Amino acid sequence: MCGFYGAIGSNPNVCHEVYEALVCLQHRGQDSAGIVSYDHRFHLKKGNGLVRDIFRAKNMERLTGTWGIGQVRYPTFGGATTEDAQPFQVHYPYGIAMAHNGNVTNAEILTEWLRCEKRTIMNSSCDIELILATFAAELGEIGGVDPDPESVFKAIEKVLQRVKGAYSVISLVAQLGMVAFRDPHGIRPLLMGKRIAADGTVEWACASENIALEILGYSDIENIGPGEAVIFRPGEDPLRRKVLSIRHNPCIFEHVYFARPDSIIDNVSVYEARRNFGIQLAKKWEKSGFHADVVIPVPDSACTSASTMARELGIEYREGLVKNRYIGRTFIMPGQGERTSSVRRKLNAIESEFKGKDVLLVDDSIVRGNTSRQIVELARAAGAKKVYFASCSPPVRHPCVYGVDMSTRAELIANETSEAEIAQKLGADAVIYQEISDLRLAVANSGSDLHYCAACFDGNYPTADVSAETLSNIEEARLQDQRQRLSTEADKVGEPG
Ligand code: SF4
Repeated sequence: MCGFYGAIGSNPNVCHEVYEALVCLQHRGQDSAGIVSYDHRFHLKKGNGLVRDIFRAKNMERLTGTWGIGQVRYPTFGGATTEDAQPFQVHYPYGIAMAHNGNVTNAEILTEWLRCEKRTIMNSSCDIELILATFAAELGEIGGVDPDPESVFKAIEKVLQRVKGAYSVISLVAQLGMVAFRDPHGIRPLLMGKRIAADGTVEWACASENIALEILGYSDIENIGPGEAVIFRPGEDPLRRKVLSIRHNPCIFEHVYFARPDSIIDNVSVYEARRNFGIQLAKKWEKSGFHADVVIPVPDSACTSASTMARELGIEYREGLVKNRYIGRTFIMPGQGERTSSVRRKLNAIESEFKGKDVLLVDDSIVRGNTSRQIVELARAAGAKKVYFASCSPPVRHPCVYGVDMSTRAELIANETSEAEIAQKLGADAVIYQEISDLRLAVANSGSDLHYCAACFDGNYPTADVSAETLSNIEEARLQDQRQRLSTEADKVGEPG
């Protein structure tokens, strides 16, 4: 999962605006970040790490222009290298800069098509390079010397036909404007907003979450729909078109884990959805017959659900785990080594909240189980009598191929494992999972009638291209990628200091 932002208008310091937005979206990716601005030329700065560590005053001075896009990246695939940091840009047949959130599922086919048909080779393992090259090639066929909006819409239609998977995209096309589009199933979020500048002109911006737009003073915020493309040109109303829409299947995991609780994704409040997860999970716990003295959330994304659950059950809610906020989100760190060591550095237990008690720990999900096992160990070490572990989402049994790092089935703790076995692996007295029907009901009770993607829980991938063979190929590619990363890490360890 990644986050992006783009703005076009009269703000001469657009790079500062993009920077602020990326800080706001930092929770969506901490691996790398980048900004490209445009003022008749593109100006790019990107690097590895957090937004605050990449951009210096001298970089910002260089990022001139009133159009700009930026991205924070969390890799599902590919190493944490600067080559894979976004945005990407090309200068032929037109100047185009692009960033995205999502994952392409037919990367191999596209790479081959680009190489054989368009004489274009890829120089990174980042999906956006494929989307950008495809868009540039299609626009080059139909755009003439100066592409107009109509040819951009046609090129996007070709991209949506060719590129499979989940992707929301933001782009700058030199001399034309800012372009945003979303895959035909609208799996990854994308919103737009409007702002009146001090000089009275209208400015437009797009973002992965509405909070970035709100914080920067945009209003009239609305979703860009599945398969919809929008072209923003200075001084004009945006041009919107449903280019190729199939069925809206947004990612339900945005509500479980990724999005900020103050965000509204596809018209559903993330906070409200998480409260409803807590209500449904409380019902499941009541049926279990277990006893708990206290409900303790795993901070941060489980806090809303856990406090609601505690209130529903009439059990004391205590924030007995304290998080060091200066350590990254463990789930989105590349490489198991980094994940394992950072959990203990990140969380600590307040002994008085655990000692001699039957504790119900609540987390948003259990993916690989490494984090959960260490949290159970923490609870036991702090003196808990019994430790129950509740997950706001169902067992994760299938890999996500749409941009969330649940890479291979073998890594998932719930893969072909019973709940009793999972409890044993975690060292817990029992685990309680949300039912998939209750997860869907919770989001429906938050005001949505959409059919969400929940493929990581039920194995029903909304895009028609994901077959058993595709899954195996994606898993094999990811395993190879992991092996390569490990050997690179080993090489680094062996390097002289
Ligand atoms: Fe979201 Fe899971 Fe679907 Fe991936 S598979 S898009 S994480 S719901």
